[in-house]
Amino acid sequence: ITLKEALKLNKEELVKFKDDLKAKIEANPELNAYISVDNVGDGVPVAIKDNIQVKNWSVTSGSNILQGYIAPYNATVIEKMLKAGLSPFGRTNMDEFAMGSTTESSFYGKTQNPHNPEYVPGGSSGGSAAAVAAGLAVAALGSDTGGSIRQPASFCGIVGMKPTYGRVSRYGLGAYASSLDQIGPMTQNVEDAAILYDIISGHDVKDSTSAPKDDKVSDKLDADRKLRIAVLPKHVENASTDVKNAYEKAIASLENAGHEIVNYELMDAKFDISAYYITATAEAATNLARYDGIRYGNRVEGKNLEETFVNTRSQGFGDEVKRRIMLGNFVLSSGYYEAYYVKAQKTRHMIKEQYENIFKDVDLILSPIAPGIAPKFGELSNPMDMYLSDLYSISVNLAGLPALSLPISKSDNGMPVGLQLIANAYEEQTLFDGALSLE
Ligand code: GLN
Repeated sequence: ITLKEALKLNKEELVKFKDDLKAKIEANPELNAYISVDNVGDGVPVAIKDNIQVKNWSVTSGSNILQGYIAPYNATVIEKMLKAGLSPFGRTNMDEFAMGSTTESSFYGKTQNPHNPEYVPGGSSGGSAAAVAAGLAVAALGSDTGGSIRQPASFCGIVGMKPTYGRVSRYGLGAYASSLDQIGPMTQNVEDAAILYDIISGHDVKDSTSAPKDDKVSDKLDADRKLRIAVLPKHVENASTDVKNAYEKAIASLENAGHEIVNYELMDAKFDISAYYITATAEAATNLARYDGIRYGNRVEGKNLEETFVNTRSQGFGDEVKRRIMLGNFVLSSGYYEAYYVKAQKTRHMIKEQYENIFKDVDLILSPIAPGIAPKFGELSNPMDMYLSDLYSISVNLAGLPALSLPISKSDNGMPVGLQLIANAYEEQTLFDGALSLE
């Protein structure tokens, strides 16, 4: 049942529903969408990515280094959920520290794609996407630093939404790249995404980057609104036939719904990839410096403090996280800072300006979210290939914009194909309205 329907259940019906859900999750262990199942309160169950703090629960960001760490407080999104009658219900699997696009880098092993066990669910919020797609969650929370909500949603055939940077409080979210991270809804349909977005969004004094805005969308949804929508013929050329076909199909249905379609071009995605992987790794290297074996989770003792740091971090972090910490420290180091980090920030500014110019003319942009359908396990084993596969998702984070991915069609072998709509900053209402007409 949908989130909207679940919110109408009475207490007794909810208890039964949650028991059934638990039984269903236990009967599907090979999917590995959940790390653990737990419940707080008597509300509608919502699955929580393992980097969002729920008081008294383990929270590990999918990492060995945080084994044994118990969250001392609720993230703001969890407080807001509890007030709205939603219950945190289980921690979902993810790439370690949200670094990845397949959920394969988790300490807890891989999560299967519910549509076909040979395929990845996407990442890093792969557990949340798989849980919703498999009917093992009414809805879920994910986090999106460079596509981690929208891309797994697309690979699993559900709706995933990244809010404007600052719309949703990051208080209690395990930081990956603080200037890019946003928590957002992963749901069965667009209306549910709007409902959950309304519940978790709003100004929060506990997050200094939180926007002083509290406007809501779900009671004003308008699927009949006529919009001016940009399409990107050149950008789409790098995508697979499945994605190109879905793109054509989406344009046709948008035109049918009475929207106006105009052509635009974006600058080469190689700039997005470079700016993103320099910015994200620089911020990650800084954020992850706090995991030293003293303050949080696992500790591997050494003869002295220095050795304890080294042992803890060498054994606690996985390969991909180590790679990014090294890359991040490199681009921030003296002598290279100007050549890499500062250049990336200039590029980021250009990416933001490019969107600002397009949004002077249009309401929405239609874009791919991934170059193809979900890859098979092991297919993206080369880190560079994995980074390059983020070409459609990351500029949105660099520009701080809201975007929503939704299922459009199926490939010949039955795998979901999704696309995303992108809106101007704080134009979530337009984003949801446009998405409804494409659903
Ligand atoms: N795949 C991207 C990365 O690894 C995005 C991850 C995310 O959004 N958390 O950085």
